[in-house]
Amino acid sequence: MSQSLATVAYLGAAILFILSLGGLSNPETSRRGNLFGMVGMALAVLATVFGPRVSPAGIPWIIGALLVGGSVGLYAAKVVKMTQMPELVALMHSLVGLAACLVGFASYVDTSVQLTGAEKLIHEVEIYIGILIGAVTFSGSLVAFGKLNGKIGGKPLLLPGRHWLNLAGLLVVIWFGREFIHAPTVAEGMTPLIVMTVISLLFGIHMVMAIGGADMPVVVSMLNSYSGWAAAATGFMLSNDLLIVTGALVGSSGAILSYIMCSAMNRNFISVIAGGFGSGGGAPAKSGEAAQPQGEVVAVSAVETAELLREAKSVIIVPGYGMAVAQAQHTVYEITKTLRDKGVNVRFGIHPVAGRMPGHMNVLLAEAKVPYDIVMEMDEINDDFPDTDVAMVIGANDIVNPSAMEDPASPIAGMPVLEVWKAKTSIVMKRSMASGYAGVDNPLFYKENNRMLFGDAKKMLDEVLTVLKS
Ligand code: NDP
Repeated sequence: MSQSLATVAYLGAAILFILSLGGLSNPETSRRGNLFGMVGMALAVLATVFGPRVSPAGIPWIIGALLVGGSVGLYAAKVVKMTQMPELVALMHSLVGLAACLVGFASYVDTSVQLTGAEKLIHEVEIYIGILIGAVTFSGSLVAFGKLNGKIGGKPLLLPGRHWLNLAGLLVVIWFGREFIHAPTVAEGMTPLIVMTVISLLFGIHMVMAIGGADMPVVVSMLNSYSGWAAAATGFMLSNDLLIVTGALVGSSGAILSYIMCSAMNRNFISVIAGGFGSGGGAPAKSGEAAQPQGEVVAVSAVETAELLREAKSVIIVPGYGMAVAQAQHTVYEITKTLRDKGVNVRFGIHPVAGRMPGHMNVLLAEAKVPYDIVMEMDEINDDFPDTDVAMVIGANDIVNPSAMEDPASPIAGMPVLEVWKAKTSIVMKRSMASGYAGVDNPLFYKENNRMLFGDAKKMLDEVLTVLKS
């Protein structure tokens, strides 16, 4: 493939990626967005493999690697459960970071192209920064993976003087950067490069370990952004324009997503990164201890739940992580359909951080074919709870926790939540009194107008559906 044809293909791929991001911003166009992304990626891979920069002798190696990588990816996509998706995404971000590190080291030891003067300086800066971002992304994403699958606890690790530690790390990295740039030979430049890589790996671990359970959504989207910048850095090292453009697209969209997540949780981005929020009891509360919920818990049966729903004129369903675990979305859809056929106004209230990844609930509801026009964002629906007969909470906890609004000492204080307790009756469907991801008690369960339907969400909803249909 000639250089000009490869450039045209790259341009086409970049346009498809932009269209893909545009499509993914709305559930109705997201399938098309996905398709654009897939075609763009296929075009990008073909133009790179058969482009002018790959010698024919290298093609079998690349095809071999593509087959191995593709098979692993296909296998992972087939076996991974929907609830494990966030972990898989975190793991994939770590691979982007690792790739940036490896490409950085490889370009540094590659002496086939002799650069001098400003070109050499720019190339070395690219390598240094690329490895730095890659190493932080790699280790940070691995810790995020551990936190998301529960192998590492949600409690933040708050080392004494942690901000000073970070500052010292930064200064050392800058100092070694100077040493690296001035190193006369590759062998001598290796030491500062390795020291910086180790510090960056430790920084990535420290940064994510210091973040509490409730603030993980910001970290997930932030690592998404980092993986984009790591890819862009790889693009600079390899002088690959498409990788730079794609990395910048992922990096900036991830940064925007982090900002949206921060606003959704009423958090300041810098304080989240500095760590210590959402501790689930780990961080010292400023204004005394978080209040213990008081009152009685009233349990109801599936039959009673069905009766409450049948008598209601308006229902708001609030899905959370437990709906994903139970894979109850299809039964939720059936119940919605049955109630709507009976003239009940059924809508969904989606919290921006419900589940374990951005858009988690929207994906599940779309999969179950719930119409988009009854799926509302938290801000769109929160004012409607007082006029609602039944708010049905399915496997959600933190996102409907009133202590976020009522208790300044709560680790999730300040996070806007879906105000389900303002409905005439709220029903919470979960298996036990256990707390949610942030590890915080939920006073909602004890409110007078709240009912608890204990059990697996899918099983309970199947029973409710049977009664509704009878
Ligand atoms: P939570 O984790 O707060 O609560 C989920 C509840 O579901 C649990 O209390 C659990 O209670 C219940 N549950 C689990 N399995 C089942 C089941 N099979 N049937 C019925 N119930 C079940 O989830 P939310 O969606 O309310 O909140 C999301 C939390 O995750 C927030 O703290 C958010 O910050 C965090 N987070 C979000 C991310 C994102 O990007 N969206 C990323 C990382 C973290 P029980 O065990 O009693 O059944």
